[in-house]
Amino acid sequence: MSANGVKSLASRRAFLLQLAPKTERRIEGAILDDSHLRGHRLRDGQMRGGLREPRKAPLVIVGGGIAGLCAGWRLLQKGFRDFVILEMEKQAGGNSRWGENEVSAYPWAAHYLPVPNRGSKLVRELCTELGLLYEGEFEERHLCHSPQERLFLHGRWQEGLEPEVGLQKADREQFQRFAGLMQEQAASGQYTVPWEPGAKASALDRMSMDDWLREKGFDSPYLRWYVEYGCRDDYGSLAKDTSAWAGVHYFAAREHEDRGPLTWPEGNGWIVKQLLKKLAPHVVAGAMVTQVAIGARGVRVLTETNDWESKGVIWAAPSYLLRYVMEGAPDTSGIIYSPWITANLTLDRMPRQAGTEFAWDNVIYDSPALGYVVATHQSLRTRIDESVWTWYYPLAAVAPAEGRKQLLARDWAWWREFILNDIGKAHRDIRQCVRRIDLMRFGHAMARPAPGWMFSPARAALAKWGGRMVLANSDLSGLSIFEEAQYRGVGAAERILRVV
Ligand SMILES: Cc1cc2nc3c(=O)[nH]c(=O)nc-3n(C[C@H](O)[C@H](O)[C@H](O)COP(=O)(O)OP(=O)(O)OC[C@H]3O[C@@H](n4cnc5c(N)ncnc54)[C@H](O)[C@@H]3O)c2cc1C
Repeated sequence: MSANGVKSLASRRAFLLQLAPKTERRIEGAILDDSHLRGHRLRDGQMRGGLREPRKAPLVIVGGGIAGLCAGWRLLQKGFRDFVILEMEKQAGGNSRWGENEVSAYPWAAHYLPVPNRGSKLVRELCTELGLLYEGEFEERHLCHSPQERLFLHGRWQEGLEPEVGLQKADREQFQRFAGLMQEQAASGQYTVPWEPGAKASALDRMSMDDWLREKGFDSPYLRWYVEYGCRDDYGSLAKDTSAWAGVHYFAAREHEDRGPLTWPEGNGWIVKQLLKKLAPHVVAGAMVTQVAIGARGVRVLTETNDWESKGVIWAAPSYLLRYVMEGAPDTSGIIYSPWITANLTLDRMPRQAGTEFAWDNVIYDSPALGYVVATHQSLRTRIDESVWTWYYPLAAVAPAEGRKQLLARDWAWWREFILNDIGKAHRDIRQCVRRIDLMRFGHAMARPAPGWMFSPARAALAKWGGRMVLANSDLSGLSIFEEAQYRGVGAAERILRVV
């Protein structure tokens, strides 16, 4: 190489160094979940031995997620107080758990409740009791502040999640036709929330959302992205792996609301906190149920340290675990669970950006992830420096078993790079803003409405299964949303009260 060549190389390097950040900042963080370790020991039958202290409770609820807590809520309303809620984690809430640090509270998974439809009586009843709904109006400060959503498309942010930039006339026509079809479906009245009370068996359930789009001649890449996003967002699955009935439900089940959704810095953890104000004395945290035995006169429920004697049990933990804890468990093999990972990023400052304001929900068009939600969005401060962002990623592109393998195989550093590269598509200075990234992996995060599952006899039988023990987890619905968890929990409480 000539001397000139060396010189120009050196000056080019100096130039590049000027462009690069002065110091690659150190980012702290950890993978915070470890329940799969205990779960795998349970699966492998390694949690059966050992002495346990005898305890008694007329009614035991297993699992302190929304379903278990709402079962407890209904029991208290009915004046029944003799029950315990056994929760394996240190903190109740399940998929509606939250965290808190020096900057903000933040969700680990569920982060909003859509403004309930007028017909969604149960959820409106809870909203009224929690002071969210008063004389038909939702409390302003709990409704998502504006701007709610934005999309990073073709190198810039646009308001709202429906793509607008770069669409051709044909794309726009397809969006209009799609909206018209969804209105027709909504007018049929059978897409209710929760879904089972309103639904009639439908041939749509036997095909995938992807096939339905194709059958209707929808080929606009923007529209298909929009529908894919909906399936990944609510079900953790691609349109090809989602029942068309469930895909339509996502778009047709909600009354049009200009306001909302209801959200809080800690996401649906806020609702958990309010429920715990009533239920905390009933909750036994850190109590993983390892065995259940149903007898003629009662049910024994074993944790690692206690042997509970009860007259009845509400199983509000994920249904697939039943096969590992009891003889004669119902067949849950038809439920497909989507694996997810979420991350909470603590930021010293918001990235510098031109154009639109930060929204509550910020989505990147060309990303396998779902973007990030800003925990400090509901803050009334006019200037936000530090913040916490919750980033969401369903491992939808691979089969669920492969997704779970990937969750276990990839370490924190791998995910840090993946997350920063993903967010970096929209925020080039993200690495200079973040000081911490914590991760939570959910191997069996949510039941997926796979084609054929919603209206299958197997799912219906599971929802009705039981005697002294009844099931309550939202996975019985095939759709994993707050309203389904509440519906299943309340229904289980009413059924078990007839037995106990
Ligand atoms: C990433 C993600 C984002 C989501 N976002 C939203 C959202 O924004 N809005 C929304 O409405 N829904 C959302 N959901 C759906 C969410 O699953 C439901 O809203 C709801 O929280 C589910 O409640 P659940 O009680 O049915 O189940 P879970 O939350 O799974 O609760 C089950 C509980 O059982 C416990 N448990 C398990 N095994 C045992 C055992 N052996 N012994 C004792 N306890 C046990 C678990 O620790 C857990 O607390 C999201 C889900 C995920 C995964």
